[in-house]
Amino acid sequence: MSCPYCDGTGWRQVSEDGVVRVERCECWRKGVAKTLLGSARIPPRYRSCDLSSFVTYENPQLQRAISRARRFIDAFPVVEKGLLFIGPPGIGKTHIAVSVLRQVVLEKNAQGLYYDTRSLLSTIRSTYNPVIRTSEVDVLRPVMEAELLILDDLGAERLTDWVEETMNLIVNTRYNDRRPTIFTSNYEDIPDPEALESLLVRVGFRMHSRLREMCEFLEYTGPDYRDFEFPPSSDDLYRKWQSQPKRKLPARASVRARARLKTGKPDLGWSGGRAGG
Ligand SMILES: [Zn+2]
Repeated sequence: MSCPYCDGTGWRQVSEDGVVRVERCECWRKGVAKTLLGSARIPPRYRSCDLSSFVTYENPQLQRAISRARRFIDAFPVVEKGLLFIGPPGIGKTHIAVSVLRQVVLEKNAQGLYYDTRSLLSTIRSTYNPVIRTSEVDVLRPVMEAELLILDDLGAERLTDWVEETMNLIVNTRYNDRRPTIFTSNYEDIPDPEALESLLVRVGFRMHSRLREMCEFLEYTGPDYRDFEFPPSSDDLYRKWQSQPKRKLPARASVRARARLKTGKPDLGWSGGRAGG
């Protein structure tokens, strides 16, 4: 059955102060959004992610992350910075990031794209194989040009010169073109070049300092949602979170201070204190 408002033309008449004009019908917008969602590469298990269905609990850092995500959706495409969700696995970072992507596509008809960082890198790598008839440009162009890109699980790939160069190329191009990117990472932002499991060490100094410029860092902790029968209750989540041992800053202040003296680089600082600490 064709649309009752536009008779299936995708345009409908509106009259304002006696002046009749045509505008895009809502059915057309929905059709476009559906096509855009279909090409956003959202993994099946995240296909119905929505911020409104995400169970939260009394965790100020998590609530801050959600409220920043909402603000990002409302403001898009006029957003100055992307977002970087940091925290241990299973606390819903991908859920929040994909929810933002879906809502921006559905509400703003933006062209969005999701990639797990490792799978993006291996896809790019596979283009060097002559048997595969996809070129590097075929993979990179949509990644560079997406109006909103999600790069999930940043830092999971072992840092090599090639990984560093490729990631810097992608991120710098998007930054220069003022296209926002949303990242997630399991690696804490410890401003210590000697803490091997830090974001800085996992992504490299250049990338880290670019991330600082282009993203708001939203770090939080919490229980692993996968430990619960779905959906968990807010109370269960809160109790589990409270019973978790608090993560501590590694006692490396003196090492950090020494490194700073040696390199003359400024302390990278903290984005907003320790979640749950
Ligand atoms: Zn219509």
